[in-house]
Amino acid sequence: MKRRSFLNNLGASALGLGIIENSFGQETKNVVNDIHSLIQVPSNIVATGRVIVIGGGMAGTTAAKYLKLWGGTGVEVTLIEPNASYYSNIFSNMVLVGERTLEQLTFNYNLLRTKYGVSVLQNSVTGINPSGKSVTLNSGKVLPYDKLVIAPGIDFEPIQLSGTAANQAKIVHAWKAGQQTTSLKNQVQAMTKKDTFIITIPPKPYRCPPGPYERACVVADYLKRIKGGGKVIILDANPSIQAEPENFTNAFNNTHKGIITYVPNATVISIDADKGTVNTNQGTFTGKVINAIPTHKAGSLITNSGIGLANAGNGKWAGVNVLTYESTVHQNIHIIGDASSTTQPKAGHIANAEAKVCADAIIHMLKGEAVNPSPMTNSACFTPITKSTASWLSVVFRYDPVSKTMVPTGNGVTESLGATKDNYEDMIKWFNNLMSDTFS
Ligand SMILES: Cc1cc2nc3c(=O)[nH]c(=O)nc-3n(C[C@H](O)[C@H](O)[C@H](O)COP(=O)(O)OP(=O)(O)OC[C@H]3O[C@@H](n4cnc5c(N)ncnc54)[C@H](O)[C@@H]3O)c2cc1C
Repeated sequence: MKRRSFLNNLGASALGLGIIENSFGQETKNVVNDIHSLIQVPSNIVATGRVIVIGGGMAGTTAAKYLKLWGGTGVEVTLIEPNASYYSNIFSNMVLVGERTLEQLTFNYNLLRTKYGVSVLQNSVTGINPSGKSVTLNSGKVLPYDKLVIAPGIDFEPIQLSGTAANQAKIVHAWKAGQQTTSLKNQVQAMTKKDTFIITIPPKPYRCPPGPYERACVVADYLKRIKGGGKVIILDANPSIQAEPENFTNAFNNTHKGIITYVPNATVISIDADKGTVNTNQGTFTGKVINAIPTHKAGSLITNSGIGLANAGNGKWAGVNVLTYESTVHQNIHIIGDASSTTQPKAGHIANAEAKVCADAIIHMLKGEAVNPSPMTNSACFTPITKSTASWLSVVFRYDPVSKTMVPTGNGVTESLGATKDNYEDMIKWFNNLMSDTFS
């Protein structure tokens, strides 16, 4: 697929233009101009209200920034996040092989405070009272809101794990960047060419559909280049590759031939950390490093809320109205990012786009105006396949009033024609612009 048609596909998202425009410059101008007509004209009514945003990740930080940017001085925005800074999951696979450091993937909330006037509280929320419209912090403090945005990301179902405590501690997911990323990096870098890396992929939905396949490729490339060989086994609980099927099939069968083995329909039953074995319905696999990514669910604030927010996907995810991201259970509570259940992928780029649709809707609601009846979002994901080449996928969603869901436009999800050096360069621009649109 040519870059021009890729841009056309991406450019169709009315609220995600900044990232696309900045990433690709002049070439996107015409596409972007066409799209600007889709953005609503601002009214003269002043928005007033108190908005609390829970979670300073990709979704929550973007929402806090744009609520203040678009809402103006009448909208008081408070972001509540337990950590002083945020480690980006995006690019964290490259930390495992020494191509990035966690420090390079660290973002803080300083500009949110100083440039936009968001009040940032380093704390976590332990309770939500929808009728009293307040949240309780773990400090015991109670904060009132007019509108609440919840973006706590994901949590995991337990894995059946046996072995000594020390060996169990080595079985990490590293699917939330941080300490586990460092642990997995140390384990990968201690491998020799005789060793095997096993990655287990949970059943969908999970965050970043191409992410586990990307990790397998990045580790395979490292083992081949730096260690002179090694093996990577992918145990996928799903029946087939969940994203960029052509690019990853090519990567497994050609680029990383002889290193990667892909096993579909492999459900993990248990892991013996002492023996280094993964017991699945497809047999038992042995590896030096076991990277077990467990089944996902919404962040525990949603699943343990006690107010029924996890009303979708067998009680694991939050049902929302995608015109506003308001909970389908409680008014004035909006849930964005990975924790919500929509037809869109669980990914950072789409979390940023959802946050803007949500912020726009909240501003209109605070003004007593109708919300945008036809929002659009887009997602792009770049995937390093080797140290110098990358592939990508892109998809644009449009609200469908009949099904009341976001449906893919055009040809649906499109993927690049293979992995190239140009894509690798575009990937870096895309990342810088996405993170800057979120944190700067
Ligand atoms: C290896 C990897 C690679 C990836 N690559 C890509 C990619 O290339 N492109 C892409 O688009 N996406 C990618 N993703 C996915 C992306 O990182 C997530 O989809 C995105 O971070 C989701 O944003 P979020 O805001 O919902 O959750 P998060 O970014 O996880 O943020 C959640 C925040 O909520 C906070 N929180 C949780 N509970 C509470 C509470 N009770 N009170 C206050 N705060 C709380 C947490 O501390 C956290 O900061 C990747 C993910 C991984 C793991």
